[in-house]
Amino acid sequence: MEKAYCLEMDKIVSPYEARDYYFSDEHETKEKLTFYCPDPECLLKITSANIYKQSMIQRAPHFKIRPKTEHEQNCTFYEVRADQITKEEESGTRQRKGAIKSNVFPTELSLEPPTKTPPKTKIASKEDEDLDIEKIRPRVKRVATEYAKTYSTKTRSFENVVDCFEQAVSEEDRTSLLTINDKTKYYKNFFKPIKYFSDEEGLIYYGEIEPIKPYGKNYSITFKDKVFHDGNYIKVAMYITHELIQQYRKKKFFIETIEQLAELELPASCYFVGAYPKLKTVNTSKTKQQFDVFNVDIANLDHLVIKFTEKGR
Ligand SMILES: [Zn+2]
Repeated sequence: MEKAYCLEMDKIVSPYEARDYYFSDEHETKEKLTFYCPDPECLLKITSANIYKQSMIQRAPHFKIRPKTEHEQNCTFYEVRADQITKEEESGTRQRKGAIKSNVFPTELSLEPPTKTPPKTKIASKEDEDLDIEKIRPRVKRVATEYAKTYSTKTRSFENVVDCFEQAVSEEDRTSLLTINDKTKYYKNFFKPIKYFSDEEGLIYYGEIEPIKPYGKNYSITFKDKVFHDGNYIKVAMYITHELIQQYRKKKFFIETIEQLAELELPASCYFVGAYPKLKTVNTSKTKQQFDVFNVDIANLDHLVIKFTEKGR
């Protein structure tokens, strides 16, 4: 299932939105979230996978129904479910298709920062396992009506878009359309390996990175591939400042994971959007030497995704 009603957020959300909320500093308790089928007539309690993982090795999150439970016969998700179960059984969870694949490729990525989820009256907790479903029904009805009016496959989750690109298995997947700002392109054409970044502005750039280096409370990320420019090979680098991290909704989570990455020195890839590398001359104070670097200045950590490189890729 691609959507579920989340009781704590009082919203119909994608698994990415749920994970984003879970790791945000807003959700302090880190208690697990409660999900229901978003069809107000059904409200089957559903579960999730890969939403609570505290690691940058994140697999695509998704919602699923619990064993031995069933949607209402007339629920919109009734048939979808039968199909998903088969796929899950066939492919297991490690494969990059089937169950973990997002069925819907977002058609638009918004680079606007997400709005805060207003604090809700807490009506769910561990002891409320048998929370009266009739109390929830009016809330879901209201939310579902609003949702139906505004429904689109626009997302704010850059990670969702990156996962779709990585998991694209068919030409049909790769030629799904994606819009960012005023650009609309096929998924496969929106993603540009970093060494060819100068081909076009306004795309999503990506590549393998060197181990992340901490400089006090700041971090630097350098791409392995250098860019040929004016007869020289020049590094592409990004500096993640303490100030930038402090503005982030998921700062605690971010600091923990980037420290892990810096310490473990694992091979990783980095994707970014909303920024374009610019040539910059750096003076080193120690050796009094100058060198050029393509500097990436990202405005918001929502526009950055770091992933461990999976074996065999
Ligand atoms: Zn249902």
